[in-house]
Amino acid sequence: MQKYDDIIVGSGISGLTMSLILAMNGRKALLLEKGPHIGGSMARFYKQGIPFDTGFHFTGGLHKGGILYDILSVLEIRDMIQPLFLSEDNANCFIFESENKLYEIPYGVKRIKQRLKEYFPEEASAIDAYFDKVQYVCDHTPSMNLRTLRPEHGHINEDFITLEAVLNGLTGNPALKALLSGFAMCYGVKPQEISFANHSRICLGLYESVARVRDGGTAFIKAFKTRLKELNVEIKCGNYIAELTDIRDNKAGRFVLNTGEEVAADNCIFTIHPMEIMKVLPEKYLSKAFINRVSSFEPSTGFFSVFAALDPEYEEPDFDSSLITMLPAPDINLLLEPALKGDSAIVLIKSIEKTGGKTHKIINSFEPSSMKQVEAWKDSITGNRPKEYDEYKNKKVENTLNRIFRIFPEYKDRLKVVDAATVLTFRDYLNNYDGSAYGIKQKVGQYSLRGRLPLHNLYAAGQSSLLPGIIGAMMSSFIVARSLVKEEQYNTFLSKNLCS
Ligand SMILES: Cc1cc2nc3c(=O)[nH]c(=O)nc-3n(C[C@H](O)[C@H](O)[C@H](O)COP(=O)(O)OP(=O)(O)OC[C@H]3O[C@@H](n4cnc5c(N)ncnc54)[C@H](O)[C@@H]3O)c2cc1C
Repeated sequence: MQKYDDIIVGSGISGLTMSLILAMNGRKALLLEKGPHIGGSMARFYKQGIPFDTGFHFTGGLHKGGILYDILSVLEIRDMIQPLFLSEDNANCFIFESENKLYEIPYGVKRIKQRLKEYFPEEASAIDAYFDKVQYVCDHTPSMNLRTLRPEHGHINEDFITLEAVLNGLTGNPALKALLSGFAMCYGVKPQEISFANHSRICLGLYESVARVRDGGTAFIKAFKTRLKELNVEIKCGNYIAELTDIRDNKAGRFVLNTGEEVAADNCIFTIHPMEIMKVLPEKYLSKAFINRVSSFEPSTGFFSVFAALDPEYEEPDFDSSLITMLPAPDINLLLEPALKGDSAIVLIKSIEKTGGKTHKIINSFEPSSMKQVEAWKDSITGNRPKEYDEYKNKKVENTLNRIFRIFPEYKDRLKVVDAATVLTFRDYLNNYDGSAYGIKQKVGQYSLRGRLPLHNLYAAGQSSLLPGIIGAMMSSFIVARSLVKEEQYNTFLSKNLCS
């Protein structure tokens, strides 16, 4: 029987990060992936020769000294990831559809504040106070900085107050509130449910800079593959843990895989959805409180997505990568309501991709959606769904296009829809528990499942354990790995490649 120091379950960006950290610290690691390929939500798909991103489109933190810049430096893969920064001046546009009003928001905290004050001169002090508070939270969150990393965030008052409450205390202006909470689409939780602290931890990086990456998530997967190979990390795709055996002193000794193979390991780190972790843990070791806690987690939002490309013959001189959020109403709580019947927000991601000597101008749209909206077909599987489902999808695509054409009439007859995806598509293609985009809903006052589990050599990491998005997912691995590697060695590993 093969024996490892650590087994890592799930090969999304959290599992890849965890495997590399442990291997770089001299540990013998086995990475298990249920699907046929590694990468989870980072993997791109190709249709009609056009590359489309699934779960990674843009990120903050890639500027020098940014959190992702640091992470990639420590993992020694920074030179394999090429950031493509969005236009600084109007990276992030918000369109209030009912008023046909456009707000162009730059990045760089100073510039954002200045632009917002131009739009809302009477709200200058509210704008300053908001950004001061965001900065305060991040300055007081040691776990979000590799230089001060600790196993816990260290909760602060802002962990126990909602984003909505903070905004209500600062301003009564609905448009400003919508703009300040607009990045809720990047974590999928209503302003009345997310803590101001977690909103700030996710958004500060995006306020500082916004970048896409050349070759998208594929660039990350390639970089990790190269490094994991150099460090002899074994990867098994199509594999998952079916059973834990040889349990003594509250520790699992052997891990039975779905293939019947048995492996031994000192530790096992799950980077998958908490409900999927629960399926593997033997019930007799779980307290009622633990089961209730995990079962009470709710899903973050999912998306209905349209993947489209502009006619290559169409010359749009200033087509540039950008994010455009279309808001039918300035009420972000309403737009993230899972049972919403009408239109929700649509986030459009424009990007340029070059493959095989061709340039593709891609437009992907993401509209918050939930399992409730596709409940009728939840037991069907991809490739074998009823015609009513196809009708639903076609209607949603038509509605999305109509809304896009109202804003960009020049795209009419020039935008070709290549594919579309519902919450069920994401669930089935990504081996994702419930089709949500960001794992569990990170609600104010909630304790997520992170670190040691009821069997003491099992650990939880991944987006649901800390914060969503690739930065939150990667940081969860840095935090949990800290419990597995000797402190002195870990500090040396962290500081070796961090510039001061
Ligand atoms: C539509 C969409 C758009 C997004 N856009 C962005 C964006 O632009 N920027 C950004 O930063 N974030 C974005 N995100 C969020 C981001 O993709 C996630 O936060 C992050 O990738 C999660 O990484 P993870 O490793 O925790 O989980 P995942 O990527 O979900 O990886 C989990 C892996 O575990 C595997 N697995 C599942 N069960 C088992 C099992 N029992 N045994 C073994 N393996 C198992 C899965 O197959 C998968 O490979 C987006 C997400 C979605 C869905």
